[in-house]
Amino acid sequence: MIENNRLLAQLDALRGESSSLDPDAVARVKIGQLVETYVESYLNGIDSGAAYSGFSASLDETNTGKSAIHGALDEPFTEDGLGLNTSLDILKREIDAPGIATTSPRFFGYIPGGGLYYSAIADMLAAVSNKYAGVYFASPGAVRVEEQCLAWLADLAGYPAGYGGYLSSGGSMANFTAVVTARDHRGIEGTKIAQSVVYLTDHAHHCIDKAIHLAGLSKCLVRRIPVDERYRMRADLLAIQLKADTDAGLNPFFVVATAGTTNTGSVDPLEEIGNLAAKFGAWYHIDGAYGALFALCEAGRKMLKGMELSDSIVMDPHKTLFLPYGIGALLVKDKTLLLEAHAAGAHYMQDVVHVEATSPATLSPELTKHFRGLRMWLPLQVVGVIPFRSALAEKMLLAQYFHSQLSLMKGFEVGPEPDLSVVTYRYIPQHEDPDLFNQRLVQAIHDDGRIFVSSTQLNGVFMLRLAVVCFRSHKTDIDTALSVLGEIANSLDSQAFTNE
Ligand SMILES: *Cc1c(COP(=O)(O)O)cnc(C)c1O
Repeated sequence: MIENNRLLAQLDALRGESSSLDPDAVARVKIGQLVETYVESYLNGIDSGAAYSGFSASLDETNTGKSAIHGALDEPFTEDGLGLNTSLDILKREIDAPGIATTSPRFFGYIPGGGLYYSAIADMLAAVSNKYAGVYFASPGAVRVEEQCLAWLADLAGYPAGYGGYLSSGGSMANFTAVVTARDHRGIEGTKIAQSVVYLTDHAHHCIDKAIHLAGLSKCLVRRIPVDERYRMRADLLAIQLKADTDAGLNPFFVVATAGTTNTGSVDPLEEIGNLAAKFGAWYHIDGAYGALFALCEAGRKMLKGMELSDSIVMDPHKTLFLPYGIGALLVKDKTLLLEAHAAGAHYMQDVVHVEATSPATLSPELTKHFRGLRMWLPLQVVGVIPFRSALAEKMLLAQYFHSQLSLMKGFEVGPEPDLSVVTYRYIPQHEDPDLFNQRLVQAIHDDGRIFVSSTQLNGVFMLRLAVVCFRSHKTDIDTALSVLGEIANSLDSQAFTNE
């Protein structure tokens, strides 16, 4: 009895000590108000805020000479907690401020994202209910949300009924799952690996190389098919290579077309490549992580003709649907292949398996996962599809506008007209080496912070890129980009001149 009383007292004490894990209704209202104030201040500051803040901008430099950040994030967690106010201060100063503002309308580097407000709300709702999105039995609603999103994407890709897919963490995981599915379906194992050939261009995303490696296919032969002057795969050269490999007794296994390369936004000739893959019996994969969703608008749809010929396709809603990071999508035309590649079982799943054969968990590497479908579902459900179509059409036009305006500016040289929404360009200085000058230019733009652009190498030449993807980017932001580029380039160029 005494023992029992001690146990009851202990339970009471522990419950008290852990009660802050479960704030009551009054506390929740206060928390909500603090967070709402924070969110509003963040969102209202985007327009006037920097697109990029160097690491040391908001914090002290360490003595190491490097501008590494040192602050509250280097401290261990405390036993008693710092409270929400202090934690939000740290969030603002050390997490939200430094680095790239991916929410900024003037973030034009890499492939921008954005982060829709409705998706942020959906993340909160998904976390509040914590619905189990991996298994139909556990949450038929969450799984149906994922299926509804996939059905919409499949329709966009032109896939008929019978497709399968899953909402992944991003494009890399989706590409990896496609490689694994193709590998298993084609029985690429043992000695067959070194006889099997993968076809792609130098502009394919490096996550494909990573996926091939992770899938145990590093010994496959890889053919880098040359590109044309607009950085699109040369289908005529692919045809010659496929024929040569077939004649040599090799196994043309996996053809990758990129629907919107990360580098230049170029779209490989999807239809021609699809027909060739079919002719030579290769699996046809399209990496449309950046570009495929442009099919939502008329101009994009024209550019992306032929997506329906693929055996698998990747899209990244956290890029061109403007969702917060952490959601990609894979579609495989034949769902049974996706199932076969992920077949596995366990006794502790025995209540689950016979209920529904095609839960996300049976179609992908993940079991327990974020209920990420809701962040895609809520905005589409609330505002409909039209705003997305219009925003994507606007991005394509903005890229064309940037391209044509920049080509008129003194000193600038532009790359090809954009297929989608990426423009490449550089400044030709009066006296300096162009590569060195443009490296300095990119650095000066980052130091300035008003806009963010990134750089790349094209045919060994250092080039700048501007990618228009953020839903907040409009004509005024492109005008700002043009004037900042002109101002900084001219100033660097004349400085170099007067220094001589
Ligand atoms: C971004 C991108 C990827 C990688 O996707 P993540 O979502 O970053 O993992 C793959 N392919 C292309 C063409 C991309 O633009």
